[in-house]
Amino acid sequence: MVNDNDLKPCPLCNGKARYQVGGELYTIGCIGCLIETDTYDDPELLAVDWNSRPEVDDLKRLLSECKHRFKSYQMDVDMSPPDHHRDFMRRIEAALDS
Ligand SMILES: [Zn+2]
Repeated sequence: MVNDNDLKPCPLCNGKARYQVGGELYTIGCIGCLIETDTYDDPELLAVDWNSRPEVDDLKRLLSECKHRFKSYQMDVDMSPPDHHRDFMRRIEAALDS
């Protein structure tokens, strides 16, 4: 049986994670920042995926990719990325520093 207490907190905001069930399919979502996983038909496999975390190097690589893309976006449309995207990157940077 699925149990939210088996789930680690959200990797982005440390919020509470919970299973979401739709018919025979499951996702895990964060009640804080609302990120959610892909859909799985096996809740145990889903929990293993949710509970395993990428290495810090992967996050650093993704962060630099995000920055690069936002920079191109800014030049293309002459607009800043939305505030929640900046905020998201700031939180990743803060987490990597700690
Ligand atoms: Zn979250």
